[in-house]
Amino acid sequence: MNTYVRVNGCGNAWPVFLGTEHPFYNRMVADDLGSTSYSVIGSRNKDFSIQAIEWEVVVDAGHNTVPFLLKNENRIPEALLLTHGHLDHILGADWIAQSLGFTGQQNEKLPLYATAPVWQQVLQTIPHIENAVAFTELKPGIKIPVKQVPGLSVTAFPVYHGDSARGAVMLLLEYLQNESASFVLFTGDLLFPFLRKNDYAILSKAQAIYIDCSNRFSFPSSNHISFTTEMPDKSTNHKYLEEWKRQHPVERLVNMQLQDNPDENCRMHFDSFMQENRNYENIPFSVVEFLAKTRIPQVQLVHYFGYHDVQYYRQEMLGSRALQHWATTMLQNHGMKQITVAAPKAGHLIKLK
Ligand SMILES: [Zn+2]
Ligand SMILES: [Zn+2]
Repeated sequence: MNTYVRVNGCGNAWPVFLGTEHPFYNRMVADDLGSTSYSVIGSRNKDFSIQAIEWEVVVDAGHNTVPFLLKNENRIPEALLLTHGHLDHILGADWIAQSLGFTGQQNEKLPLYATAPVWQQVLQTIPHIENAVAFTELKPGIKIPVKQVPGLSVTAFPVYHGDSARGAVMLLLEYLQNESASFVLFTGDLLFPFLRKNDYAILSKAQAIYIDCSNRFSFPSSNHISFTTEMPDKSTNHKYLEEWKRQHPVERLVNMQLQDNPDENCRMHFDSFMQENRNYENIPFSVVEFLAKTRIPQVQLVHYFGYHDVQYYRQEMLGSRALQHWATTMLQNHGMKQITVAAPKAGHLIKLK
């Protein structure tokens, strides 16, 4: 049996605004309009027929996730894992859970893994989902087995993605088979991660990273990381970034996290985070900076938006090939020639080692 990661959708909340075109998303192609979502699939072959699939877990489920699943393997996943509670990451959760409620065994509930604040946000948005879901809490830095899939576990690492995304995390999935482990990292949406030195060492085991690439250039008020913190003209004046850092002391953001999740593990994580990071000096605010710390060899850019690059930097929005080319050059310029970059569309598949 092999393990695959499939992109079910690569878009942000609003891939193409009504009345416009976007070079990255073809408005005539339904799958281009899907929110960022993934399936991690254990299967005997790449056909993903009902007979071949042994298990599937879905990471985030927003717009078009369920139509995409229907069009493809058309089965209910063993579990749903969530990075944060925004609509474009949770909207499909109800459809998946009700699918099990109406067609599964009596009282069968969809296993859902998320942090406590994310689960609270899901319940506020979709209150009736409570009866259709079996919730398992993810805690910072703690490896939690995905019980439905022997050998699979998930570790959540806190990230900052703005005040409206309480408890947001990146998820490291580990699959252990025949005593060899494979790792893949899904960042979800983030402006920056709350990571400690040791966490970077753990994350660097990942074979591939699927990372938020909403912006090419820094615009932190968007609550999204950018690909680079360099200015387009290579000057060093990070106007928006420096101003944002001044207005948002890291300690205040950490206290907010602790308010939302007063759990002991959470406190321990953020205590050691604060010991290492009294200011923003060593915290990555770009994909380039994040990769310099983790050296994950395969980068998949998702959740592309581009409007802030136009609005604040007068740079154009790119199509997927152009984005891939630009990002590859950027990494090469920073001495990361061995890292491959892609901007995958729905259906894109990699095999885990
Ligand atoms: Zn999103
Ligand atoms: Zn989000």
